[in-house]
Amino acid sequence: MGKPTILILGAGYAGITTAIMLQKKLDKTDATIKLINKHAYHYQTTWLHENAVGTLPDHQVKIPIESVIDTDRIDFIVDTVTHIKSEEQRVSLKKHGDLTYDYLVVALGFETETFNIPGIKTHAYTINSVYQAGFLRKELEKKLTTYRRADKQTPFSIVVGGGGFTGVEYLGELTDQLPSLLEKFQLDEQNIEILSIEKEQSVMPGFDLELGEYAMQVLENKGVTFYLGMAVKSVHTDYVVVEKNGLTEEIPTSIFIWTAGVRSNHLIEQSDLEHVDGSVEVSDELRAPNRDNVFVLGDCTTISSTDHNQITSSTAQIAIQQGKVCAKNLERLIKGKSNELLSFHYKEHGLIASLGKSDAIGVLYNNRKVFGKEAVLLKRINENRVLHQIGGFPMLWKRKK
Ligand SMILES: Cc1cc2nc3c(=O)[nH]c(=O)nc-3n(C[C@H](O)[C@H](O)[C@H](O)COP(=O)(O)OP(=O)(O)OC[C@H]3O[C@@H](n4cnc5c(N)ncnc54)[C@H](O)[C@@H]3O)c2cc1C
Repeated sequence: MGKPTILILGAGYAGITTAIMLQKKLDKTDATIKLINKHAYHYQTTWLHENAVGTLPDHQVKIPIESVIDTDRIDFIVDTVTHIKSEEQRVSLKKHGDLTYDYLVVALGFETETFNIPGIKTHAYTINSVYQAGFLRKELEKKLTTYRRADKQTPFSIVVGGGGFTGVEYLGELTDQLPSLLEKFQLDEQNIEILSIEKEQSVMPGFDLELGEYAMQVLENKGVTFYLGMAVKSVHTDYVVVEKNGLTEEIPTSIFIWTAGVRSNHLIEQSDLEHVDGSVEVSDELRAPNRDNVFVLGDCTTISSTDHNQITSSTAQIAIQQGKVCAKNLERLIKGKSNELLSFHYKEHGLIASLGKSDAIGVLYNNRKVFGKEAVLLKRINENRVLHQIGGFPMLWKRKK
């Protein structure tokens, strides 16, 4: 084989980490590296709930990719991947046509999971990209403007479907911004209601129950009403149908935000890669089944080995750590050390969900629960660590919170 070509699909946490590490590990003579991403920027997905209510402006959430990669080493292509054909070692792009590869890294992230609930695609807003977060922010303001001019006989009802990580973080941020929204649209507190609908008996299912209850207490004090044990059945222009204990009812909505599910990028399901429910069960070295030259990372993967059973959800931390192992393994493969590949072992740094700017909840690597100011501080430290990993001290200095 001549100089091999590595294609990295997606410049989210996993893809950008792989690219940044590879540019340090491989010389120009070792391999051609191409990074393909839909946009010219990487975005901090973990900050999207803040962007969705306007706390963080777009320019702080977006990081121009060319500012963090060495464009002499990496050929960066802004385009949308449309097909992955691993049998042919070929990837199709919307504008640039087909690209062939020797090694492929699939890091295309997540999409909204609708669970086939009618109306989610057409009537629900989501927070899964900068575009969607911006759209939600603008639509909320537009609807509040219309409401302000109307007779205000019923409250403006902001309904969030799903009390998981994203839903809780969004509610925390939204309730922080509520006083300024009321002032901006000249409304009273009783004009706006904020509802959270959760299928389980507490928010943050999968997290510690005490933390879920703490989160609900904080958010209730900030004006959120929780409907627990209630499943969304269908979504309509101005109401949702829900079911509780076998009984259905309609809940009026002025705006409905769906935060209850994510799934791997649909391109996995449409590709010829072996997958389970659209997600690739990777080997310990992070390779796809029967495809030794294809690495799959981040939210496109399921990790099945016993060692990783503790991983319960997709996170930026997992994506970053996988990106590092993938880069090291690619270096070894290219330098002829295929018998020295590393296995991925996830190092838990703790997971913290914010409840607005002055409160948070989380579990640390040693299972210690954290609340309040301590959790806020630890979340900031985690966020700044990610910034440093992506863009070093200049990035940390410019964008730190
Ligand atoms: C609101 C919110 C808050 C979160 N908070 C946290 C948190 O506090 N801590 C934590 O650890 N995790 C958090 N997460 C989860 C975390 O963001 C994801 O697990 C992480 O982003 C996954 O990284 P990834 O690299 O797999 O994919 P992504 O970061 O989603 O990156 C995928 C990239 O691929 C690009 N792409 C997609 N499709 C195509 C295509 N067809 N062609 C070209 N490019 C494409 C996208 O534009 C994107 O740049 C949060 C998620 C959300 C939505």
